[in-house]
Amino acid sequence: MAKKTSTRCTMCGQTATAANPVVAVLPGLDLCTECIQFIDEARDNQLRATRKTDEAEAAEEKCRPIPKPKEINDFLNQYVIGQDEAKKFLSVAVYNHYKRIRQMDCAGKKDAADDVDIEKSNIVMVGPTGTGKTLLAKSIARLLDVPFTIVDATVLTEAGYVGEDIESLLTRLLQACDYDVERAQRGIVFIDEIDKIARKGDNPSITRDVSGEGVQQGLLKLLEGSVVLVPPQGGRKHPDQKMIPVDTKNILFICGGAFDGIERKIAARLNHRIVGYGHDASKKKHERENLMRYVQPQDLKSFGLIPEIIGRLPILTSLNPLDRDALRRILTEPKNAITRQYTRLFELDGVKLEFTDDALDLIVDKAVEFKLGARGLRTIVETIMVDAMYEVPSNPVKTFTVDADYARCKLEEAHFADSVAL
Ligand code: ADP
Repeated sequence: MAKKTSTRCTMCGQTATAANPVVAVLPGLDLCTECIQFIDEARDNQLRATRKTDEAEAAEEKCRPIPKPKEINDFLNQYVIGQDEAKKFLSVAVYNHYKRIRQMDCAGKKDAADDVDIEKSNIVMVGPTGTGKTLLAKSIARLLDVPFTIVDATVLTEAGYVGEDIESLLTRLLQACDYDVERAQRGIVFIDEIDKIARKGDNPSITRDVSGEGVQQGLLKLLEGSVVLVPPQGGRKHPDQKMIPVDTKNILFICGGAFDGIERKIAARLNHRIVGYGHDASKKKHERENLMRYVQPQDLKSFGLIPEIIGRLPILTSLNPLDRDALRRILTEPKNAITRQYTRLFELDGVKLEFTDDALDLIVDKAVEFKLGARGLRTIVETIMVDAMYEVPSNPVKTFTVDADYARCKLEEAHFADSVAL
C-alpha cells in the first residue's frame, strides 16, 4: 500500500487533517483513516457472518440422517445393474462407517463407560474390469454428498522415486471440495487398480519394490487413520512447500481391482480342500462357477497384498462378470443409461428418439462379440449415433428411430470391427 499523503478522501470527500490523514491506496483511490477503519470493520463482520454460516452448515451436515443400508441399496439400484452382493456389503459398510463418525461427533470424546471402539470399515472390491466397481463408489459418494475422488494406484510410488507421493491422493480429495479440510476428512477415496501394487511373488521382497510393496507400506498409515501432511498441489513434496495436515481417520477408502488370475489362487485353495475329500464332481463345479465370489483375505495375500493392508481393508466383496442380460439392462435401465442420455439430447432439439429392441440386441451382440464389456456399450452407441447427431438438428424431423439395420449399417460404415480389433 503506497503511503503518499493526498488531499481528499475518494470515499467520503473529507480533506486530509493531521488526525485523519488521507492515503493513496491505489492509483485513483485515496482513502482517509476513518474510511479505511470502516472498510476493515465491514470486512471483519462479513467474515464473521460467513464463518457462522459455514459452521451452521457443517453442524447441519453432521446432523443429517444417515441413509439406512436398505435405502443405500435402493439408491445404488438406480445406477448399478446386478452386483447384488457387492451392493449389500457396501451399503452395510458405508452405513456403519458414517454411523461410527456420527457416534464420535455426538459423544464428543469417548465416554468412559463406552469403551467399544468401532473400527473403520474400508472396503476392497474384487472383480473384472468394467463391471461397476468405480460406478458403485461414485454412486455412494453422490448419495451421501461427500467429497469423492478416484486415484489410480499405479501412479503412486514410494517417497523418493519417480511417480506421485502417496499423500498426493489426498490432494485430489482436497481439490474435490475446494480445500475444505473439514469436509475432506469425511470424504471417500476410491483407489483403483489396487491389484497393480501387489508385490511380485508371495515372499517378502529382497530387492526394493518401490511401486509395489513400498506403496503398500506407504498406504498403511492412510488407511488406518492418522494425520498426514498433504502437498496442496499434489505430485512430489518439496521442502519449501506449505503442507496441509489431513486426518484420515474418518475418510472411507474403497479399493478396487481386477486381480487377474486370482481365480487360480481361489481354486487352488478350494480344490485343495475338495481334493482332500475326494469330491471330483464338486471340483469341476467350482471351476465352472464364478470363483471370484469365494474370494477370501488369504487369496489377496497369495496375490501379493501384504497382510497389514488386508487387515485395514476389512470388508471384502466381489463383482460378477456381466452377462448378456446385464449388458442389455445397462443399456436402458440405469437412471443415466446411455440410451436415456441420447434420448434426452434429441429431446432438447424437439426430436423423439427411439431404439428398437433388435437394435439394442445388436449393440449387446457387438459388445459380447468384441469382448468390450459395459464400457464398450458407450463406444458402440456413439459410433451408431454420430451421423444422426450431426444431421438431425438441421432436419425438421419429429421422430428418429434407430433399428438394427440402421445400427448395423453405421457400424459397417465406421469399420467398427476393424477399429476395435486394432
Ligand atoms: P470398473 O469395475 O472397472 O471400475 P466402472 O464402474 O468404471 O468399472 O464401469 C465402467 C462403465 O461401465 C460405467 O461407467 C458404467 O457406464 C458401465 N457399467 C459397468 N458396470 C455396470 C453395472 N453393473 N451397472 C451399470 N453400469 C455399469
